[in-house]
Parts: sequence; C-alpha cells; structure tokens
Amino acid sequence: MRQWAFDLFGIFFPSYCPVCGFPLHTMRQVMCLKCESGMPYTRYEKDLSNPVARIFWGRVLLEGATALVRFEKGSRYQPLLHHLKYNGRREIGIFLGRKLGSVLNGTPFAEADYLVPVPLHPSREKERGYNQSELIVRGVSAITGIPLSDRLLVRIQKTGSQTSKSRIARWKNVENVFQLNDELECFENRKLLLIDDVVTTGATLEACARELLKIKGVKVFVATIACA
Ligand SMILES: [Zn+2]
Repeated sequence: MRQWAFDLFGIFFPSYCPVCGFPLHTMRQVMCLKCESGMPYTRYEKDLSNPVARIFWGRVLLEGATALVRFEKGSRYQPLLHHLKYNGRREIGIFLGRKLGSVLNGTPFAEADYLVPVPLHPSREKERGYNQSELIVRGVSAITGIPLSDRLLVRIQKTGSQTSKSRIARWKNVENVFQLNDELECFENRKLLLIDDVVTTGATLEACARELLKIKGVKVFVATIACA
C-alpha cells in the first residue's frame, strides 16, 4: 500500500501506541516516538558478566547472553510482548528484532553464523499463525545480515505455561522438549545466536542451548528482547 493510502486508512481506523495508548500518526508506526525513545535498554551486550549471562552460569556454557530491555513488574512496556504473542501484532516482533540487531552490531553477538529462534510446537504455531521468536529473528537478520535457520531446532513436545511454575518445575517442564533436526554437518564449528522474546528463569533457553551444543564444535550465544 502506498503511504497516502496508509494515512487515509489510518484516519478511519486509527491504531494506538501499545505502550501509552496514544493514537499513532501512521499505520507503519509501531509505537509513538516518546515511548520509543524511552525504551529501558539494558546495554548488557557490552558486558559479558551481565545479570542475564549470570542466569546461565553453572548451568550451560554460553559465549554470551543478553537482553535488549528490562521490563520490571508492572512496566508500561509489558503490553508490547503481550500484543506480539497473543494479539497478532506481528510488526512488533520485527520492530523489536531490528532494535536488537542494532545494539548487537559491532559486538561478539553479531559474529554469529546463524540465528536460531526458540521454536514453538507445530500445533501451537498453527494455532497462533506465527512464531514470535522467528519474527524477532527476522528483524535481527534484516539489520545484521546474519542468516536465520528456522529448521535446526524443533519442539517435539507441547509444554504447559511456564509462568506459574517454580524454577525446578520449569526445568522439568522443558527437559527433552527440543530436538535437533537432521543435516547438522553444515552447523559444525559454527557460532549460533539463539533468540527468544523473554528470559525469566532461563529454563527454555537452557534446554535449547543444550541441544545445540550437541553439534560438534558449536558455540552458542543467547539474546532476548526482554528480561524481567
Ligand atoms: Zn506511546
């Protein structure tokens, strides 16, 4: 659609900033400029012993781990991820992925050979129509030029919601959930950047990283949009 058509459409069907609820100027905007410039960036990508990296210490060997922003409990930015996951707002995934790509550029994270999204179970992806992590990966890829591999890792079991479980229960919940696909030779000795929307206890990312590390000579980085 041309810009004038977008703007005309926007007059009749205005969209709103998912953070502050203010009407947006054009259909192409994801959030208002004020909210965009106030994003609570962590800048963890420059610090290898940051709080997200520490989550994985003693659990799985990563080359680095980071999150783009910190969403504390009750943060007004929290609805962003909710809209992305449950309200079909795919453009939020690409937008946040591009932001993540920009901060990772020039850091060791951008030396990855492939981007790997945390997979959804095929039945859940069908239900939702997309995998939010894959949308984020597409945004990162657009900025960094790193290709994505969405077939390397597969989710073979459906898991219940992680949110109400303890740390041990969360780990039990995702054990043996992920599996490597075949044709692994081309990933040997490569650097992989595993990407998800959010990191809390790290159980899901740990389970994925453990699978990826079964490939000979592989090194794994982790990056998410948000940490709690
Ligand atoms: Zn706003």
